Amino acid sequence: MVAITGASSGIGEATARELAARGAAVVLGARREDRLERLAADLRAAGGRVAHRPTDVTRREDLTALVDLAVGEFGRLDVLVGNAGISTISPVADLDVEGWSQMIDVNVRGVLHGIAAALPVFRAQRRGHLVTTVSTAGLKISPTMAVYAGTKNAVRTILEGLRQESTEGWLRTTSISPGYVRTELAASITDPALRTRIEQNTASLALDPAAVARAIAFAIEQPQDVEIGDITIRPSAQD
Ligand code: NDP
Repeated sequence: MVAITGASSGIGEATARELAARGAAVVLGARREDRLERLAADLRAAGGRVAHRPTDVTRREDLTALVDLAVGEFGRLDVLVGNAGISTISPVADLDVEGWSQMIDVNVRGVLHGIAAALPVFRAQRRGHLVTTVSTAGLKISPTMAVYAGTKNAVRTILEGLRQESTEGWLRTTSISPGYVRTELAASITDPALRTRIEQNTASLALDPAAVARAIAFAIEQPQDVEIGDITIRPSAQD
């Protein structure tokens, strides 16, 4: 039973499709309910077990409700994929304080809200797995990506700290670091020239989101005593 945030498009949607095809029940969260409804209908038509609810990860109560839905519908929560994210990137000198705040709220606070909702359930079950989508932007720091990379590395650090605190064997944590992936992520970039550049890079070399979904499935499907801490997955042609 896997709950996924940011399931309405891109990597989250591909992950829902991949895991449902492998037999997992999935609970889908994102703000665009129409998208979730369409995806849920697709998955059900293929025999999948699925529930969904509108979820804004910046609201703690929405994550609590998403986890409650998973437990209510399917009796447990095995994995939370904290995947929702935005990339309102720009050079730091542009002082896009609003964009920085939005990234901190969604990319960092949103993941923390997921942890706060899922951890009590995992502890009660003595079993659980937190997967988050961070980024190669946090491994090779590029101009315009400083704050975005900072939010992703904050999450990487939080998960590693939680791992260090959780060595009794019932909690697993995994950070997935994708490079360029063909999704709608660039839509949140407000600078038109920068958005065009990122969209061109995406068009020329990006991975299909299904590739990231398969990496997430690989981490989840390991036996409980095997924790895949980090996966970096980028196009072979990415520098
Ligand atoms: P998309 O824009 O296609 O997907 C982003 C998802 O996040 C959407 O489902 C969106 O749903 C959701 N989302 C955004 N804000 C919120 C919010 N406040 N509450 C709930 N959901 C929200 O992009 P990707 O699939 O690429 O992004 C998924 C993750 O992968 C992100 O964390 C991104 O940073 C990361 N990533 C992406 C890379 C890429 O090249 N594409 C590379 C490395 C990492 P909705 O708008 O319906 O709420």
